[in-house]
Amino acid sequence: MEVKYVSTRNKDDVKTASQAILQGLAKDGGLYVPTEIPKLDIPMEKLGEMTYQEVAYEVMSRFFTDFTEEELKCCINSAYDSKFDTEEIAPLVKAHGAYYLELFHGKTIAFKDMALSILPYLMVTSAKKNQVKNDIVILTATSGDTGKAALAGFADVPGTKIIVFYPKDGVSPIQKQQMVTQTGENTFVVGIDGNFDDAQTGVKKMFNDSELAKELDEAGYQFSSANSINIGRLIPQVVYYVSAYARLLHNEAIQPGEEINVAVPTGNFGNILAAYYAKQMGVPIDRLICASNSNRVLYDFFSTGNYDRQREFQLTMSPSMDILISSNLERLIYRILDNDPAKTKAAYQALNEEGSTDIGKELLSVKVPDFYGNFASEDETKATIKAVYEDTGYVIDTHTAVAAAVYEKYKADTKDTKTTVIASTASPYKFTRSVMQAIGQDHPELSDTSAR
Ligand SMILES: *Cc1c(COP(=O)(O)O)cnc(C)c1O
Repeated sequence: MEVKYVSTRNKDDVKTASQAILQGLAKDGGLYVPTEIPKLDIPMEKLGEMTYQEVAYEVMSRFFTDFTEEELKCCINSAYDSKFDTEEIAPLVKAHGAYYLELFHGKTIAFKDMALSILPYLMVTSAKKNQVKNDIVILTATSGDTGKAALAGFADVPGTKIIVFYPKDGVSPIQKQQMVTQTGENTFVVGIDGNFDDAQTGVKKMFNDSELAKELDEAGYQFSSANSINIGRLIPQVVYYVSAYARLLHNEAIQPGEEINVAVPTGNFGNILAAYYAKQMGVPIDRLICASNSNRVLYDFFSTGNYDRQREFQLTMSPSMDILISSNLERLIYRILDNDPAKTKAAYQALNEEGSTDIGKELLSVKVPDFYGNFASEDETKATIKAVYEDTGYVIDTHTAVAAAVYEKYKADTKDTKTTVIASTASPYKFTRSVMQAIGQDHPELSDTSAR
């Protein structure tokens, strides 16, 4: 069965996987979604005996149906290698009544590495498959973390160059050092006068400049983007949920067919959407627990059916979740609206023009009862880091702690005792100051790599 990719805003914009990866965002501003979620037609027991890379092949080959076995295996093996500090790639750690799925064993010790380590290879392969002769030039605007993960992913990948733009005075000293010390013949980092939005606007202008595109083409280059709406980032994230379930089963932590819950610290809605896709593939997942920090726009959406971005932006100690426009949510809204591009387009027009869009609480509870949304305040997040540490000695980072805190609220609300996997999205060493403060040992000489 061939899986194609269609824009959430235009039913006539249909692409192959490799074309969708090359393109990133659809021309009409929509996001590419698989026309069908393929079923995982291999027994979980069998997956439980496989390596991470083998599971990755089983999952991705069902989505990226225009890649050959050799192409896909080459991408997977180039991505998930000794760059990761453990052969398991994404280990599960049992602590404090849940399983923490550690997604931070890659180069930048945070979960963006899971997708950004394979995206460059998927892109280069896609370019070859579509007879693109040009080198791919990735343009990225960053407020800190994504820039480093993208640089690390694309460094010295043949056929690519990457240019990262960051606000000169808008990133932490450590973030800046991480970016400007990036090795690789093909990596470029530019500090701009202005803020993140200015960087983003400048990058968008370059993407839309047809004169520039022509000039580049003549010189043998073309632009592409590595942002989190690319399906080449989304699909690799499905893998670790499949692999986590298979390993729990293999280790007899659960019985065949037993349902689990998944709790995810959420910003742009990519990670949790990947868990939803894993569920659609057939992984026995019951609830998807969507955890927000005090930028609780998603919690409000799941409790009212209204997505309202008109609110004050809060700076928190989980900065990668400080987001008011959760771009991947469009893929879920498309699904809630019966995969209807006209309805999705209208919903997003309202969001852009009026600042909010009402999907309706009723519709939400009928179409996606799988999701549970809640949020954790800064104090609740800190208290959770402390409690997990004092109970077990296990240290979690500020983002993961938001999910752990929300999971506690979920249990209190529902009395549900199912085995639960919490996505652990960053190493605690990345947010040392906040983590140490939470544990009760403030060290002013430390800083969070992502402090703003
Ligand atoms: C990006 C990020 C998140 C949010 O993930 P989304 O896929 O955007 O929802 C959570 N935690 C960390 C550490 C991140 O870097």
